[in-house]
Amino acid sequence: MRWWIVTLALLFTGPAAHADEGILGVLARSQLARLDHASAADPSSVRARTVRVSFETLARALGLRHPVELRVIEGETVAETLQGRVVLANESLADLGEGERLFILAHELGHIELGHWEQTQHLYQKWVPGAVTPDQTEPVAALLGRDGSGLAHRQEIEADAYALHTLHALGGTSRDAVTAFMHLGTSLDTATHPGTRKRLAALRAADAQWSADPQATTRNERSDSVSRPD
Ligand SMILES: [Zn+2]
Repeated sequence: MRWWIVTLALLFTGPAAHADEGILGVLARSQLARLDHASAADPSSVRARTVRVSFETLARALGLRHPVELRVIEGETVAETLQGRVVLANESLADLGEGERLFILAHELGHIELGHWEQTQHLYQKWVPGAVTPDQTEPVAALLGRDGSGLAHRQEIEADAYALHTLHALGGTSRDAVTAFMHLGTSLDTATHPGTRKRLAALRAADAQWSADPQATTRNERSDSVSRPD
């Protein structure tokens, strides 16, 4: 379930840094490589159009504050956000129910609207402020890995909650979210993603919080522009 990945081993396995290149440059090239690697789906296919229509429904309903581009792809990746503004969404999302599809796409939009890419860049820059060289990266790799993993896990939980509240605002229910997880398959914790069990538990907590005070939770996520589509 590779929804959004910043590889923590990037410093060692990613594109080698150019002379005097900073960490933001390395991160940018890594994201660009992932973008280049993605294979576009036939945009005129029914499946690609179905995904795009759902995405546009969401974009209109959310009144997005950040520019966003959708690319419908084929291949293994289900959905992923790159460069803090490009959403890759697999054409196979068309095979899911509308509510599930909206949950997955809203999760990706949550990463963008909540500024997750900027947070990640900030963290990397904090640990590797100068040129990316082994002298700079090796002493901090373990700490960066720990902090990066913690941040990535928090961001996944936040994006899930954002997507859940978006579903509520559009008249859907948490059942769509749970079904989406079931269809995508369960997974254990990874460096970048909490396991399915943790995500479902967090989702239940977010759902209970929303039921108790919808306006407060929506405000907390800075998604107060959520509205029902016309
Ligand atoms: Zn995610």
